Amino acid sequence: MTSVALTIAGSDSGGGAGIQADLKTFQELGVFGTSALTAVTAQNTLGVHGVYPIEAAGVTAQIQAVLDDFSVGAVKTGMLFSADIIEAVAVSLRNNGCPPLVIDPVMIAKGGASLLKDEAVTALKAHLLPLATLVTPNIPEAEVLADMTIQSTADYEEAANRILSSGAKAVILKGGHSNDAQFAEDFFFRADGYSFTIKSERIATKDTHGTGCTFSAAITAFISQGKSLQEAVREAKVFIQAAISDGLQLGGGHGPTNHWA
Ligand code: PLP
Repeated sequence: MTSVALTIAGSDSGGGAGIQADLKTFQELGVFGTSALTAVTAQNTLGVHGVYPIEAAGVTAQIQAVLDDFSVGAVKTGMLFSADIIEAVAVSLRNNGCPPLVIDPVMIAKGGASLLKDEAVTALKAHLLPLATLVTPNIPEAEVLADMTIQSTADYEEAANRILSSGAKAVILKGGHSNDAQFAEDFFFRADGYSFTIKSERIATKDTHGTGCTFSAAITAFISQGKSLQEAVREAKVFIQAAISDGLQLGGGHGPTNHWA
């Protein structure tokens, strides 16, 4: 049977992040990708040049159309932009008996552009995190969600516990933004206290555009295929490691990760 996944995220016209990264990743992993667009960005490897949100009713209609017709094995969210869109997504998913949900709490693009309004963070925590099977913050995103400063790995457990107190079932704190020059180590924590870490060699490259989207999309694809959350996370780490080490030197800025690595 063909596995189906749904991504609820923003469009990156440059094709390296957002919906485009998600659908390419689903395709590469043998999963049929469906999508609900939350915003259109005018973007290339140099940065985000404009953000054009979709009205919340349009986001709801897309999610409903997909969930009415397909047997969706897993859902992911990426750029959600506003509190209105977050509330619409949460209501739509709740009304449809929410499939396993991976939340990539996208906030700021590498170039500094805001992909989530400041006031939308409260809505994200209140309405969407309680539905999450897994939340995948990088360190700056974890600091915002946990409302604390993360100085070192010693702070990760406290940050994870604060995020899990929202009702999310698990969180993986991605170490890509840490100051460890040798390794990129991710820390997984489940609400019942189970935890593990996954370590990989840090790859020195500037071509990392879309890594977060690609990682969370790979986890979603693996869950939609019936893998356990742990298996999905471990296999997605292998996938993203290859995608980063084979990053594409396209455009004049941060090139995209390579989805068919
Ligand atoms: N654009 C969109 C639509 C995204 O969803 C994301 C990431 O989540 C980005 C841009 C940011 O990509 P990066 O920070 O990897 O450049």
